[in-house]
Amino acid sequence: MSRIVTYSPAYTLVPTYECFNRCSYCNFRVDPGRDSWLAIAQAKKILKSFQGTGIVEILILSGEVHPQSPRRKAWFEHLYDLCELALSLGFLPHTNAGPLSWEEMTRLKQVNVSMGLMVEQLTPKLLETVHRHAPSKVPSLRLQQLEWAGELKIPFTTGLLLGIGETVADWKDTLRAIARLHQRWGNIQEVILQPHSPGTQQSLSAPVFPPEKLPRAIAIARDILPSDITLQIPPNLIAQPNLLLDCIAAGATDLGGISPKDEVNPNYPHPTFQSLAQILEPEGWQFRPRLPVYPQYYNWLSPRLQEAIHKIARAILLS
Ligand code: SF4
Repeated sequence: MSRIVTYSPAYTLVPTYECFNRCSYCNFRVDPGRDSWLAIAQAKKILKSFQGTGIVEILILSGEVHPQSPRRKAWFEHLYDLCELALSLGFLPHTNAGPLSWEEMTRLKQVNVSMGLMVEQLTPKLLETVHRHAPSKVPSLRLQQLEWAGELKIPFTTGLLLGIGETVADWKDTLRAIARLHQRWGNIQEVILQPHSPGTQQSLSAPVFPPEKLPRAIAIARDILPSDITLQIPPNLIAQPNLLLDCIAAGATDLGGISPKDEVNPNYPHPTFQSLAQILEPEGWQFRPRLPVYPQYYNWLSPRLQEAIHKIARAILLS
């Protein structure tokens, strides 16, 4: 068995924090119209400061403008331009911006090596609680995104949010649905298991997901999901080194994007690469960087994106 744990050296660009949904556990959003969008010139300045630092992935993580809003087109073009900018400066973009139309997804495929959308939980009962004011969280809409990504041959990252009012049976239903889609399209490269971790901005008063339950959730996911889907856990939400090791022993082999700030959970700073290596390596785990797209998907991408990947892969090998 290989003893390798991976992570993606990443930086998160936020085009806008405005979001028309109001998930009650959210620590990210501001009201529509209350946020100035990230200017391209500012993004360029930020990205240039990361050239040559080892950062590879630019996660474009955005709040959502309503699909029927007259501002939707400008929002989408802004996302596209940020991806194009990141790509032109030698980074690999990965966009997560909520549900997209087929046309939007098709265009973003041109400038993203992979994309993502959390399924979170499929149980409809959450539409009466944490997602009561979040039309984007209708389960069928999110499953359709995974399906479209499969049809369009977009390598995809999804995941579950744990501890927002669901049961273990609900986890299993959600995992089985992801497994079925992957068996059909083969496009799910990673599944994130994200424990609910309360922050200072959210309205939900639910407690933190009990950390000791995480290894069990991982073992269930490992059992249900096909073996070519990598399981990812966010190390900043797992405070205890022993628990992190238990999660890895249970089948999680990726720690996701390690970046200066976790925009989704801003109250939980990311540990450094060095501090994680100090936990993993004494236990015999090799801790290695990876790209935001897995090798089995390289040939799904355009020649331009493949060239960008090979350039970065060569640079990593030479460093
Ligand atoms: S969790 Fe995402 S979709 Fe929900 S309100 Fe926050 S930014 Fe919007």
